[in-house]
Amino acid sequence: ESDQRLSKVLAAAGVASRRNSEELILEGRVTVNGSVCNTPQTRVDPAKDVIYVNGNRLPKRLPPKVYLALNKPKGYICSVGDKKSVMSLFDDYLKIWDKRNLGQSKPRLFTVGRLDVATTGLIIVTNDGDFAQKLSHPSSNLSKEYIATIEGTVSKKHLLVISEGTFIDGVHCVPDSVELLPNQPEMPRPRLRVVVHDGRKHEVRELMKNAGLEIHSLKRVRIGGYRLPSDLGLGKHVELKQGDLSALG
Ligand code: URA
Repeated sequence: ESDQRLSKVLAAAGVASRRNSEELILEGRVTVNGSVCNTPQTRVDPAKDVIYVNGNRLPKRLPPKVYLALNKPKGYICSVGDKKSVMSLFDDYLKIWDKRNLGQSKPRLFTVGRLDVATTGLIIVTNDGDFAQKLSHPSSNLSKEYIATIEGTVSKKHLLVISEGTFIDGVHCVPDSVELLPNQPEMPRPRLRVVVHDGRKHEVRELMKNAGLEIHSLKRVRIGGYRLPSDLGLGKHVELKQGDLSALG
């Protein structure tokens, strides 16, 4: 049986994540064989059915899957909109892609989860909607490690309050661990290593705020078993290898 759910076919083609593909379908922006189809569970055969998304034909041949780790700079958002998006950091990558893959559609890239505009560090970028969905789903239970640089001083009491967690959207979020890193002369501000797994919005910032600490900067350095390469400059990315992908979780 080659028929698959329409939303899954769009996600597999790299149109968007599974959830966003469902939204596109519900909004009536997808046609199958000439008529609008607004039921995501409709079964289609990508090789036979003619599918359009926002007026663009879904390619029959799927672009290969790409998995990239980006070191996100400050000031970039993880969605696409009017603000400066992390996607603009892949313009050159996509140009090279065009040259290497003549005639093939470009991968439509999106981030796996998000980092705040002011947060730097590791974010995964892919065209694989299933992978993105699996990784960002709370059941994946992936731990994420952040380095928070703090304004002012950090006491034992602060660490205790952070470790007790805080409520975000009515849910009690407790970090897996929090630890004060040893002082380094070239880094005058105290630095905390915080590991969380809930993936709630602004989780690390909320934990710090609840303890009365002001964040100077925040960087994500690890997701699951994959650590941001220390030599990867801000705004640069690397392709993830099979081993990196399994380490991710
Ligand atoms: N927690 C935050 O507060 N911000 C992020 O960007 C990620 C986790």
